[in-house]
Amino acid sequence: MWNDKPEDLYEKRFHKLPPVEGNGESIVILGAGESGVGAALLAKTKGFDVFVSDKGTISPKAKLELQQHNIPFEEEQHTMELILCAAEIIKSPGIPESAPVMVAIRESDIPVISEIEFAGRYSNAIKIGITGSNGKTTTTLWIYHIMKRAGMDVILAGNIGTSYARALVERDPKYAVIELSSFQLDDMYNFKCNVAIITNITPDHLDRYNNDFEKYIQSKLRILQNMASSGIFIYDIEDKILQEHWDHKTCYIMALPFSLHHPWMAAWNSYNHIRYRTWGKRFSVHEDDLRLRGKHNICNAMCAGIACLVLGMTKADVIHGLTSFKGVEHRLERVATVSGVTYINDSKATNVDSVWYALDSLKHPDADDKKARRMWNFYGMSKYIVWIVGGTDKGNDYSRLFPLVKEKVKAIICLGADNTKLLETFGTMVPVIEDVHSMDKAVALAAACAEKRDTVLLSPACASFDLFNNYEHRGQLFKQKVNELNIRV
Ligand code: ADP
Repeated sequence: MWNDKPEDLYEKRFHKLPPVEGNGESIVILGAGESGVGAALLAKTKGFDVFVSDKGTISPKAKLELQQHNIPFEEEQHTMELILCAAEIIKSPGIPESAPVMVAIRESDIPVISEIEFAGRYSNAIKIGITGSNGKTTTTLWIYHIMKRAGMDVILAGNIGTSYARALVERDPKYAVIELSSFQLDDMYNFKCNVAIITNITPDHLDRYNNDFEKYIQSKLRILQNMASSGIFIYDIEDKILQEHWDHKTCYIMALPFSLHHPWMAAWNSYNHIRYRTWGKRFSVHEDDLRLRGKHNICNAMCAGIACLVLGMTKADVIHGLTSFKGVEHRLERVATVSGVTYINDSKATNVDSVWYALDSLKHPDADDKKARRMWNFYGMSKYIVWIVGGTDKGNDYSRLFPLVKEKVKAIICLGADNTKLLETFGTMVPVIEDVHSMDKAVALAAACAEKRDTVLLSPACASFDLFNNYEHRGQLFKQKVNELNIRV
């Protein structure tokens, strides 16, 4: 087996699913976003009788596409008589179980699946699935970047860009790298990943799981369902939740753990190097050779490197891909330096854990200067972060951040419709804490609080919907306001 070419090896190891034809059966698709429209196009191609229903307004582009393919649709309503006639329903991940349409559907016995489950029936691609509370997008894009750069036949699917279903209308690729949210996993039953990654599990989206963390954990673990013994599971061996919930004795998947602290894993971190030792290949990459900073990105690099190595990629391709990846917008993105102050956009940090990594990764500008460090030992280290935080709280427990806030944060700008919880939690912890309701004010105040060599960090720990359309809108506005400061200076 080891003499086989890597690609042949994977042909043998990974089992294939037969395609399923529609034969005029009716499928209803709830939601006409990218995944809904993609599913509608694929279902139509496969011979189903398709109907799309969206409670909101459908974008003109999506409407045009549906019309061009003779797919009937409705918007701003759900006609239950039509929906309840379906043989199967494909639900968009944004629709909660508590929505009246879902309550009615669950009372019937119509099966409900996600777009990925549906697309998976028509794809023989080797599937690399990525889930976790944080780091999904970064890791998914990193793996895709490494594979694409090496010239492999790979598509990006799931929560990012083009939906898997839409991609399959064109052709079935050899590899699919798929970001899987817990909402997508909830409606997946037979989908089988060949390589599964769980970056980490920490509390998030508990509002969608009746504040039951256990349910959210089980949802994440669904990525492992159906994986045969030929499947490969990549995970952080230090993740407490996985330690408690994943039983390697009853789950016969080949597990390849990584670790920031423990040596001799499939990948681990020591003396500022990421060391890989995966499937007979050994090499190391210096942290400074990565373009992304922070321990969390070392974890993401470990996941990405291991996944590519188990797919049979060469050492050289993996190293080049790891070191040439530039990162993703709104994730610890350096915006500008204005009057000596560095501005960082981490708008995608919508939970406490991601903020912890952001605060942890920001080093004092003099951190590498021995003389300055001697002064800190004598006088105490100066605080250097102005932190913009706030939005729609998802039941956050901020206590994990207290040591870092006490050590590094000089001022907090609370940016949300209601900042009461933040003001109460951090009010006595930092010298300056402000209550604002617009990005304009937040950036102006942050600029006023920050001194030369400080960092202004937008890392909200909360969802954005109270004041912004989404996290991208929040991040774009932040960048716009910072760039306006730049012009004024
Ligand atoms: P997701 O798609 O899971 O939301 P992203 O890659 O978009 O993850 O990153 C979301 C936020 O989490 C960003 O603020 C980012 O800096 C942070 N982050 C990225 N990777 C990790 C990780 N492995 N652990 C904790 N936080 C992370």
